[in-house]
Amino acid sequence: MVKTKVEEVLNYIKKSSPGQDEFYQAAREVFESIIPLLEADSRYLEQNILERIIVPERSIIFRVNWIDDSGKIRTNLGYRVQFNSAIGPYKGGLRFHPTVSLGTVKFLGFEQIFKNALTGLNIGGAKGGSNFDPKGKSDAEIMRFCQSFMSELYKYIGKNRDIPAGDIGVGQREIGYLFGQYKKLTGDFDGAITGKGVNWGGSLARKQATGYGSVYFANEHLKVYNQEIKGKTCLVSGSGNVALYTIEKLIQMGAKPVACSDSRGTVYHKKGLDIASLKAVKELKRASLKEYANLHPDCEYIDVAHYPKGAHAIWQIPCDVAFPSATQNELNLQDAKALVKGGCMLVNEGANMPTTPDAIDYLQDMGVLFSPGKAANAGGVATSQLEMSQNASMTQWNFEQVDIKLRQIMKNIFKIAYKTSKEFDRTGDLITGANIAGFRKVADSMIDQGSV
Ligand code: NDP
Repeated sequence: MVKTKVEEVLNYIKKSSPGQDEFYQAAREVFESIIPLLEADSRYLEQNILERIIVPERSIIFRVNWIDDSGKIRTNLGYRVQFNSAIGPYKGGLRFHPTVSLGTVKFLGFEQIFKNALTGLNIGGAKGGSNFDPKGKSDAEIMRFCQSFMSELYKYIGKNRDIPAGDIGVGQREIGYLFGQYKKLTGDFDGAITGKGVNWGGSLARKQATGYGSVYFANEHLKVYNQEIKGKTCLVSGSGNVALYTIEKLIQMGAKPVACSDSRGTVYHKKGLDIASLKAVKELKRASLKEYANLHPDCEYIDVAHYPKGAHAIWQIPCDVAFPSATQNELNLQDAKALVKGGCMLVNEGANMPTTPDAIDYLQDMGVLFSPGKAANAGGVATSQLEMSQNASMTQWNFEQVDIKLRQIMKNIFKIAYKTSKEFDRTGDLITGANIAGFRKVADSMIDQGSV
């Protein structure tokens, strides 16, 4: 009966959201994993929570006109999906990438609802972005695009309403231009955006938070099995915000990250990655990883054109722990098989939905531990909320204060996901644990607030 109902709702999503495959994938993963809860408590089906929770409260799609350096008017699409505000004001990042569509934003917004609930903080779920490609654009073009994007978005956001942040393609530079325009249009200097620079309302350790939090989470996970991150050989895909600070924290905690990647290739540095040089190439110069390889002749560079057919080069490298930290569906079944063969004991998701469903099934069947992104990468949004608290009280905490809170939040997220997996007789299955814990908090709040 419950399974039939879940299938019915999933079929409805497929029909009503054509072409939104990633959203459908995210909904299927959540709904299938919460079946034990739906069976144990009939209120959720009686109150039509599944039908209600998969429809965003509001989806805003807008035109973004901007002028390029040659004086030509260019047009992109802008999105903000305000998915669920049952437990607090909408909160979630903005992604600027040519692949962004309504389906992408809905998948990310849907995931964000449960991730935010897991942090234990009162924030609802949202996501936004644009199909604008920041690559190859001048600084002035990025600024004009951000200003134009905010000229529409500012109507829908606010510190008690919806608080955007960064994501792929939106780092501190873009947040600066977005915030500047928000302030100009509203006249308010307030905490309506997070990920701000530390001189103008940002929180120390926000930049590091997702990556550091991901490593803290992995360590908590390993501890249950009498292991620790120290001494482990690690792979970290991507080389953006999440990946760089995952690598930095791994080194600080005595692990050995040996490989990372970007959209053009993979670097394998067997003796261990050099974080200072990685930051110089990726964070400061915004260059390709090939430059890192040029600086380190003892490392191997694999161009994306030479990846094994249907697989990703990074996951073919032997490791103890894998941190997919670039983008969705970047670790497939073929990659999962290679990881198992290479001795991997834990896959810890730094990105959102980086592992395909068949790869997850295979890893779990083979006894590989799995930390879902919803839990493992929640350190970023949790620290954004700490930024909001500092803005509201006009204070600034030091780096250590924020880092201690972040570590505690990651411990708590692990604890609740693990405890919930146990409660439903799936001890150690953190997908079930995290999804049920997040869903239950939001669904109970929706029931309390009635049909709105
Ligand atoms: P960045 O834009 O800083 O970095 C993304 C990295 O992934 C870059 O190295 C980029 O390569 C690479 N990449 C992007 N798309 C692809 C692709 N299609 N194929 C291969 N590589 C790709 O983004 P973030 O580090 O902020 O985000 C990474 C992931 O983490 C995303 O899934 C995001 O949603 C998630 N996340 C981010 C949070 C945050 O606080 N930033 C919080 C929680 C989750 P290149 O350098 O060539 O562009």
